[in-house]
Amino acid sequence: MRKIVIALDGYSACGKSSTAKELARRLEYGYIDTGAMYRAVTHYFQEHNVSLSNPKEVEKALLNIEITFICHPQTGDNETFLNGLRVEDVIRSPKVSGQVSEVSTLKVVREAMVAQQRKMGKKKGIVMDGRDIGTVVFPDAELKVFMTADMEVRVGRRQKELLEKGQMVSLEEVRENLEKRDLIDTTREESPLRKADDAFVIDTTNIIFDQQVEQILNLANDKMIEHHHGEDIGL
Ligand code: C5P
Repeated sequence: MRKIVIALDGYSACGKSSTAKELARRLEYGYIDTGAMYRAVTHYFQEHNVSLSNPKEVEKALLNIEITFICHPQTGDNETFLNGLRVEDVIRSPKVSGQVSEVSTLKVVREAMVAQQRKMGKKKGIVMDGRDIGTVVFPDAELKVFMTADMEVRVGRRQKELLEKGQMVSLEEVRENLEKRDLIDTTREESPLRKADDAFVIDTTNIIFDQQVEQILNLANDKMIEHHHGEDIGL
């Protein structure tokens, strides 16, 4: 069966990454968490006091940033490395979460990340999650899914996730952060978060995790068969 690209976009804390990980594990595909890349850039800028209002400084800093992932195929887990250092935990901190959407509005940052993401997905066989994967990074992705969920459900899930990692944050703090990021992500000039016209919408408010994974796996299987036949008859 030919490998495809699965683009998973949507709002923060709708279950994109856990769904993407499980899909990657089940399909034996690679998983690319593009949010982790924007978070790693934000962490670097914070550590090096890069002024976001100075385009030259931002461009120069980007040249010094190398982001890599180590994938664990058995679990579908991913670890993010910034210039060889593991940053998987620090990039989820409130400090980074508070600024990542602002950093993600910068055109030069997006251009650098999109170029890397396209390289990572060139050989297909990947699940990539983010905000602009189906619209900008891989507009020709064979399968595009757009995930949504009610705000209260998202807030609860994200707080639980953070508490499990030992980060004590209140529901109000989480809600404030998600609302702020939604607003910036959907209204920015450069590749704003929006559903691609040909994306399937999955609302995860009332469905359990296994159901959402099964739904997407079924869609992926259909697309793989379609793609396979398309190849056979030279489409
Ligand atoms: O997916 P996650 O919530 O970790 O992403 C963090 C932030 O990175 C998002 O709120 C968004 O501002 C930015 N982002 C983006 N484009 C992507 C992935 C993430 O702008 N493809």
